[in-house]
Amino acid sequence: MELTVDNRPFKHMLAPLDLGFTVLKNRILMGAMHTGLEEEKSGLSKLAAFYRERAQAGVALIVTGGFSPNMVGRLAPFSAKLTNRKEQARHVCITEAVHEAGGKIALQILHAGRYGYHPFIVAPSAIPSPITPFKPWTLSKRGIAKTIQQFARCAALAQEAGYDGVEVMGSEGYLINQFIVAHTNHRKDAWGGDFSRRMRFPVEIVRAIRAEVGPAFILIYRLSLLDLVKQGSSWEEIVSLAQAIEQAGATMINTGIGWHEARIPTIASMVPPGVFTPLTQRLKTAVHIPLITSNRINTPELVEEIIATQQADMVSMARPLLADPAFVEKALLDESAAINTCIGCNQACLDRVFVRQPATCLVNPRAGNETTLIYEQTQKVKKIAVVGGGPAGLAFAVTAASRGHQITLFEKESILGGQFNLAKTIPGKADFAESLRYYAYQLEKYKIETHLGKTAQLADLQRYDEIVLATGVMPRIPEITGIDHPSVMTYLEVLRQEKTPGKRVAILGAGGIGFDMAIWLTQPDLQGKTEIYQDFYARWGIDIFSDHPGGLVAPQLPAPQREVYLLQRKKEKFGVRLGKTTGWIHRLSLKQQQVRMLGGVVYELIDDEGLHLRIDEQKQCLAVDTVILCTGQVEYKPLYEPLKQQRQHVHLIGGAYKALELDAKHAIDQATRLAALI
Ligand code: NAP
Ligand code: SF4
Repeated sequence: MELTVDNRPFKHMLAPLDLGFTVLKNRILMGAMHTGLEEEKSGLSKLAAFYRERAQAGVALIVTGGFSPNMVGRLAPFSAKLTNRKEQARHVCITEAVHEAGGKIALQILHAGRYGYHPFIVAPSAIPSPITPFKPWTLSKRGIAKTIQQFARCAALAQEAGYDGVEVMGSEGYLINQFIVAHTNHRKDAWGGDFSRRMRFPVEIVRAIRAEVGPAFILIYRLSLLDLVKQGSSWEEIVSLAQAIEQAGATMINTGIGWHEARIPTIASMVPPGVFTPLTQRLKTAVHIPLITSNRINTPELVEEIIATQQADMVSMARPLLADPAFVEKALLDESAAINTCIGCNQACLDRVFVRQPATCLVNPRAGNETTLIYEQTQKVKKIAVVGGGPAGLAFAVTAASRGHQITLFEKESILGGQFNLAKTIPGKADFAESLRYYAYQLEKYKIETHLGKTAQLADLQRYDEIVLATGVMPRIPEITGIDHPSVMTYLEVLRQEKTPGKRVAILGAGGIGFDMAIWLTQPDLQGKTEIYQDFYARWGIDIFSDHPGGLVAPQLPAPQREVYLLQRKKEKFGVRLGKTTGWIHRLSLKQQQVRMLGGVVYELIDDEGLHLRIDEQKQCLAVDTVILCTGQVEYKPLYEPLKQQRQHVHLIGGAYKALELDAKHAIDQATRLAALI
């Protein structure tokens, strides 16, 4: 049956949006995300390839990562800016690529204000931020007027470079937000004081840009709907700002949530789907221009519901389009099960950007590597056996099969997924199940011969051109006296529900799995239940209807389900090796659950009394009824040596290759790169 506008799936999501002077072909906006390519030598041509792929697959409007309108507004000393014709010329490859692919693109103008990481930062008042070590200089009145003109000049340069519009970054706590909020704006002149004066800066910026670019140019203003900081805007203030921004000439308002200094998660995996969209919906009655909603919206089903029920006019997503550039195309073909879903982990995107490495994606290593990681059809079809159906084995199998190889997959368990099957049971990690759904779809699509519940033996592996061992890891069992005591269990036994922990638990090892285990033991699993929303708002102290300034109220924490100790031998801060952008959330979550964290521990004995240990030569016994081992992993690769001895072409990937600090990001990346070459 031919698809028509009326009967096609996701018809609200795929409906055009008429902006008067131009039409967007559907309701998906690729939200601004700094990729790190903005600063790389020849990075803009890589960005062009990155955006081209997304535009080609149907994204209606892309917004670039932030470019500063001047020197002092840069995020770091060498961060991207657009201030002159030389810089402008480098952008033409981006706009041409997107237009050739049938898309539209807007440049985000971002002035970091006091969030900049250099000594020349400026702000409305000289108040340092908690997230950078530098004290900002106070902008003079002349400086303010000049900055407004620089925003307008940046927009004009973008327009001449072929952009279809700009987005003015007015949220997340950057310069514009710093003017709006009393906590960061102590000025006594015409740019500070009551709200009408504090909001003058963004309104003048929008007005100046509109005057510069004319009426037929998209001007998105990103407005903070929930600051999540003390003395943040009240709802009344947010509404009056939105109306003034509309009056000043904005085409659309995009909704931002939370300043970067806020200690409340806004995009990480434990944030429930679409949890902030009720705020966008609330604003809809107050303004006439289209509103864009965002944050943890990663499936076409959720986008469709939001647009169909008029909670917003467009949905902004950045990470889901890193994970799958063909998100829109697959929805158009009613193949949403084929979408490689973003799991909200931040591990390969934002965590890398924070350490000045280009963003890519844990579930899609090709993101940001479009010009170098290419899956070409093979000229020589090989028969390949893959042993192990965890993330590494699955990633290898589907990528190699997509290139035309014949794959046979052996998995000793009765289900696929390996460690992802464990991860999906942790509260806040439900999206790992989406990855498994994606792989199941791809196995079917490429007709990969899959043997479940089958432990591959040497005899099974004799007729292949290549053998890929993705046999994973086994929990490390440390040498502690009493390790065989009945109270001791591994994380694997707990998460597979082979053993049941008691009410007083000591977790040995505070790596990613130790932290996950502490959450699993203390928090109820509300995944998929409607209570998850109320629980999230209450736990983090969010007044979703923002009648309190900044949307903050006192958190209400349910009593923890168990008494838990999290232990490590190192003396370092807990969780320092976790993700840059999520480690603090895990630490805070454990504090909320009253998990006691003890470092510098020497384990002495486990017996009927509990766990005996020493800290700084002080002996003590934790009277626990359960000891859970989260003490890392060792490689599991029993077939490797025998296959080598047979002179077979054998490859080790994932945890079986290297278990030390193994994570899914490395495993999938390594597997995919091997599959691209083999
Ligand atoms: P891990 O990060 O290597 O942590 C294992 C911990 O066990 C170590 O921190 C170590 O701490 C302790 N340990 C190691 N050998 C020991 C021994 N012989 N006796 C007692 N304690 C010992 O491994 P993991 O927690 O299993 O995590 C595996 C990987 O998955 C990691 O890369 C992790 O980052 C990733 N992961 C990440 C997340 C997340 O970011 N949320 C979640 C899950 C997994 P001490 O030596 O100080 O005691
Ligand atoms: Fe999403 Fe994780 Fe990929 Fe980032 S790395 S885009 S959060 S799946």
